[in-house]
Amino acid sequence: MGHLKLHIPGPIEVSDKTFEAFRTPMIGHRSQDFKDLYTAVMPNLQALLYTERLVYLGTSSAWGIMEGAIRNLVAKRVLSCMKGAFSDKWLDVAKRCGKQAEALQVDWGSPILPEQIDERLATGNFDAVTLVHNETSTGVMSPLAEIALLKAKYPDVMFIVDSVSSLSGVKIEFDKLGIDLLLAGTQKAFAMPPGLSVFTASQAALDRAATIGDRGYYFDLLEFQKNAEKRMTPSTPSIGHIYALKSKLEDILAEGLDARFARHAKLAQMTRDWAAGHGFTLFPEAGYESQTLTCVNNGAKPSEREIDVAKLQGLMKERGILIDSGYGRIKGKTFRLSSMGDETEETMQSLYGLLDESLGQL
Ligand SMILES: *Cc1c(COP(=O)(O)O)cnc(C)c1O
Repeated sequence: MGHLKLHIPGPIEVSDKTFEAFRTPMIGHRSQDFKDLYTAVMPNLQALLYTERLVYLGTSSAWGIMEGAIRNLVAKRVLSCMKGAFSDKWLDVAKRCGKQAEALQVDWGSPILPEQIDERLATGNFDAVTLVHNETSTGVMSPLAEIALLKAKYPDVMFIVDSVSSLSGVKIEFDKLGIDLLLAGTQKAFAMPPGLSVFTASQAALDRAATIGDRGYYFDLLEFQKNAEKRMTPSTPSIGHIYALKSKLEDILAEGLDARFARHAKLAQMTRDWAAGHGFTLFPEAGYESQTLTCVNNGAKPSEREIDVAKLQGLMKERGILIDSGYGRIKGKTFRLSSMGDETEETMQSLYGLLDESLGQL
């Protein structure tokens, strides 16, 4: 008791059940017990990612894998699709890795559209593209399935996709999409503590990595593949996280993937309806709203409702809930409400009730 419940879009609230699993007594990471643990989670991860590829477990937050993807897959030049804080930063990360990188920048609030990528890839200048599926800073979800169709036209371009705040909340069919690398951290839609990432890669991605000499060690895709074949990880992983993941995946599959995706779609719609019912508009362009969080506009136009977001956040804290007050340069001009993870219609209704009380006090 006494902790602030997190309704920010990551990290989010972690259940007691998940923490219980996390604190399972430790085992050796080269033991049969570890292989059994990884063997137990592998098919469930494959079901969640709709893939027959091996799914890797990385002990780092998502940025580790995001940087690793650049180091492993970019030989010539990467096109960074930028539409918010996380996707914008990926360009900078690519440059810091010493790679040639170019921006495809759209306004915050807009999605990345396939024709924009097509136009840039048509130059022949790129051998990789990075895309954030669900841009958590703006609450915008780009049309991944339509974008992935471009892979057929540009088979030599590596399609690298961040699904940090969407994987397990939205259906993402890795094999069917035909993309090359998909990654997510576990502290967002999975509702686990921060510090573990899950990711998978196409055979083409492994082939590309094999041609790249300076891909490093800690995030070397070939090391992950070689070890995953034996149900191991290259170095000592956060074993507690993997126990937590096992428990969480069992819950996810018991709920049913389609039921889970439908729950998240419903909760996001309820939050959008709550916002509209209180005179707010949404930050994302219509039709591209995230299914796991809602980014609400605050006084975007003179005619629109404007509140003191910091004060609202303070009033919500007094009620035991932490909401977000906007990310980076849209701080205060927006606020974000997360409906990821274990949230239900009941918990969201209680959030709206407390928001109503707090708004009444502004
Ligand atoms: C949170 C987030 C990241 C960064 O994750 P870390 O866990 O902080 O490394 C990257 N991409 C998206 C879309 C995110 O929401």
